[in-house]
Amino acid sequence: MKKIAVFPGSFDPITKGHESVIKRAIPLFDKLYVAIGLNAEKKGFFPVEQRLEWLRSVFKDHPSVEIIEYSGLTVDLCKKLDAGYLLRGLRTSADFEFERSIGQTNRTLNPNVETVFFLTAPEYTSLNSGIVRDIVRHGGDASAFVPDAIDLNSLKKHAGAD
Ligand code: ADP
Repeated sequence: MKKIAVFPGSFDPITKGHESVIKRAIPLFDKLYVAIGLNAEKKGFFPVEQRLEWLRSVFKDHPSVEIIEYSGLTVDLCKKLDAGYLLRGLRTSADFEFERSIGQTNRTLNPNVETVFFLTAPEYTSLNSGIVRDIVRHGGDASAFVPDAIDLNSLKKHAGAD
């Protein structure tokens, strides 16, 4: 049976922390969907089309990675995609508490989906998308925090936006 995984998130924008988790997961799964969750109440900072484009450019040389968007429950997406694994990153103990309740709830909703956690690489522990958004919002240089494949001009376009 094929090992199919889903890595859900907002990726608003993708950071080197996300990139590191995804690259470590690639050899473990036959297929890996990176799924941008759409939330009707939370519009996000960068347009979804832009977030999808960035993710696609970062993983263009990895044929087992597919970038998608979804709405609704993540466990329902897993069922639709025949995915048996949900991937999440753990940075801090706060992440753990948050992820534990989501993971246990998801297990109740769909016991066929196993949540798999990746400990953050130490250099990315304090990195999150919110930090990148703040830097961009104020016209700073976020290049140290996003994958090299991201075109910085496309980030700067959003300076001052909100
Ligand atoms: P954020 O929490 O930065 O807004 P997302 O909502 O896109 O990110 O989260 C998607 C997944 O990526 C979550 O499991 C989150 O814990 C993980 N993640 C986010 N930033 C990092 C990082 N710096 N290192 C490892 N995992 C991360």
